[in-house]
Amino acid sequence: ARQARGEFVAHVSHEIKSPLNVLHMYSEMLLSEEGKSEEFRLEAGNVMLEETERLSPLISNLLSISKIEMGSTSLDRQRVKLRELLEDTFTAVSRTGKRDDIHFNLELPAEMSTIFVDKDLLRIAISNLLTNAIKYTKAGGRVTLSAEEDADAIRIRVIDTGMGISPEDQKLIFLKFYRSEDEEVRKKPGHGLGLSLAKSIIELHHGTITVESSPGEGSTFTVHFNKGGGLVREEL
Ligand code: ADP
Repeated sequence: ARQARGEFVAHVSHEIKSPLNVLHMYSEMLLSEEGKSEEFRLEAGNVMLEETERLSPLISNLLSISKIEMGSTSLDRQRVKLRELLEDTFTAVSRTGKRDDIHFNLELPAEMSTIFVDKDLLRIAISNLLTNAIKYTKAGGRVTLSAEEDADAIRIRVIDTGMGISPEDQKLIFLKFYRSEDEEVRKKPGHGLGLSLAKSIIELHHGTITVESSPGEGSTFTVHFNKGGGLVREEL
């Protein structure tokens, strides 16, 4: 555990240090002669914005991971209308996903249960899946959030028509910091924390998450909750 923690700290420090170095370099240049040109100020502004945008999801994912690793006692469970939670998450992600070149679909049953979960964490899990679906899908593709519910279970699916995931990668993608070696994946920003966090969150709620995918055709992530075990209950 000590070695794992050491590696984790080293990795995180590295992920934070590189954008910080860029921010430092550009701030110094802004204060120098070079920083006086309008063209350079614009470039610096853009680079600094991009680097802080990269840091921000890293920090929020790390905060959630530490919340989770402190143990389930820190889960803040509340009664939540699942349909509303899915709708809100979908709207927020498809809006900030800033892509008008892909189609978004929302397919939810008219009625869904009220469930007893940590609303903020569940929202992070679903939004990580949706953000990935958007990130790894080319123009013209489609991203769908669907859900179904029967007497025993609830299944939530995030489906994309994107680049897909090789069978070898499918075994590894839920590991902390794992990113595919594929160069199309490496072109996209990311820290390899989104899926590991989503998995921890789902498992903390006694659910499971699985992936089915064909390279070049797309991926489907399925979150499965059994309705027993306190997920759907009338009394707090
Ligand atoms: P990140 O996206 O920051 O790299 P994640 O933990 O969210 O980290 O995902 C881990 C890896 O799983 C990604 O690097 C990518 O290789 C793969 N992956 C996840 N979601 C998808 C998807 N929808 N389509 C294709 N590949 C995916």
